[in-house]
Amino acid sequence: MKPYAWDRETDVIVLGFGGAGVAAAVTAHDLGAEVLILEKAPEGRHGGNTRIAAQGYLNTSDAEKAATYLEALCGPYKVPDEMIRAWAREMCLNNDWLAGLGGDPQEHQHQPEGIEYPELPGSGCVHKFHDGPRYGYSLTWKRFESFVRERAIAVEYETPGRELIQDATTREILGVRAERDGKPHFVKARKAVVLTCGGFENNQEMIRDYLPGVSRCYPSGTPYNEGDGIAMALEVGADLWHMNNYAGPSLALKVPDFPATLSIQALHFAKEFPGGMIVVGPDGRRFYDEKFKHRHGKVPINGVWSPMHVPTPMFMVFDQDMMAAGPLYNKEPNRGWTPIMERYDWSDDNSAELAKGWIKRGDTIADLSRVIGLDPVALDATVARWNDQAKAGEDADFGRGLMLAPLATAPFYAMELSPSMINTQGGPRRNQNAQVLRPDRTPIPRLYSAGELGSIYSYLYQGTGNIGECLAFGRIAGRNAAAEAPWS
Ligand SMILES: Cc1cc2nc3c(=O)[nH]c(=O)nc-3n(C[C@H](O)[C@H](O)[C@H](O)COP(=O)(O)OP(=O)(O)OC[C@H]3O[C@@H](n4cnc5c(N)ncnc54)[C@H](O)[C@@H]3O)c2cc1C
Repeated sequence: MKPYAWDRETDVIVLGFGGAGVAAAVTAHDLGAEVLILEKAPEGRHGGNTRIAAQGYLNTSDAEKAATYLEALCGPYKVPDEMIRAWAREMCLNNDWLAGLGGDPQEHQHQPEGIEYPELPGSGCVHKFHDGPRYGYSLTWKRFESFVRERAIAVEYETPGRELIQDATTREILGVRAERDGKPHFVKARKAVVLTCGGFENNQEMIRDYLPGVSRCYPSGTPYNEGDGIAMALEVGADLWHMNNYAGPSLALKVPDFPATLSIQALHFAKEFPGGMIVVGPDGRRFYDEKFKHRHGKVPINGVWSPMHVPTPMFMVFDQDMMAAGPLYNKEPNRGWTPIMERYDWSDDNSAELAKGWIKRGDTIADLSRVIGLDPVALDATVARWNDQAKAGEDADFGRGLMLAPLATAPFYAMELSPSMINTQGGPRRNQNAQVLRPDRTPIPRLYSAGELGSIYSYLYQGTGNIGECLAFGRIAGRNAAAEAPWS
């Protein structure tokens, strides 16, 4: 092996301080391993998507049913049976794990609405939990984080992993080349490295290469997940899986001022908002039911759940009644990177955002079309058709059942929308032991992964499944990493 001048050494390196990183680090630590977490973000902006998620995690009630449900969710995009079994077994233990460490598992109140695909076999296994009296507001994350803080687990912030150090002969992973203050920082892992550094939500090149139907898409979560784990794993010979699956797209506002998207109240499927509103594509025509309750970005097309069609550029077109009804942005800081971390104070009457040019205005629909670069004849016809349908109380084109109001009051406004996502599901292929696999399905020695970086979800997604899986495979990775014999 090429000798490295290691700057630091430990038993287990965990790359990424989100939910999966916590579960892996705490488990390995409690089994006697010395653990170091390397985190890319500065302290206070760490925690990844887990920190700003809605804070629910899945705890399945029955392993048999859970296996049946997951298999049905995967549909034609099959996952090996031993992986499904490992997931199903471990997902039943999430509450025990949390309670065993001093947490307070509480079931969400809105069961069974939380079952995303009730029509699939085994769906009755779904039980969604959070820590403490309410969900949202980073509360479950704060509990997870406290488990690391109360242990002798070292964390180095602003220290992204850049490369896995691999023995050229044995192919074992020996450590990590990270980066600190722009300089290489070599950390030796006597036992193993666990990759928990999230997906590629903020890497536009990977999005173009891997995600179906979107030429660009922006995160509603952490901007620090840029696909680094995928690049590092590829370099040491890993195979990839589920790269085309993601929890999106949805439609949101993306402005240069912030790295993540801003969610718009009127587009929320459950919310009524006063005034007239439609969404149109670059041809000036509507393309969907703006209030449809998509399932993490999937909608039925010809009877098959498929990613929603998002023709960019897209515009939300609305009237003065909506403009006057209150802030268009949902600034409630219960979930999402922008509300929780950026705390942007959107103006109550939307005037500041009009002045910034995030909202455009026209005295007539034809004027507005010219401002946003759409064909005035097409947009005028679309609005006229929508207004007729709204007055008749029936959306004959897309069957929209909510907010059937015409765009009645001038002036008119438009906001450009972008595809947005919660997270990507793809990454290095892993097995039931959380080992990262080569294309021939043999493990890369001493390399593990957990969380959304190469998640098990190949097609349909059950909400709260991601954090649930972070805990389940984080524990499996932590156990197996701690059990490795040190290489020196
Ligand atoms: C708005 C929103 C709501 C959601 N709600 C839910 C929910 O209620 N339930 C649910 O199950 N899922 C939810 N999800 C999805 C879920 O949050 C994530 O899939 C899950 O938290 C991912 O956990 P993780 O540990 O794999 O990654 P993350 O929590 O994203 O953590 C990854 C960490 O790795 C760090 N990192 C990145 N690159 C490097 C590098 N090179 N070196 C070191 N560190 C690196 C990042 O900074 C980050 O801290 C939601 C997501 C969003 C955006």
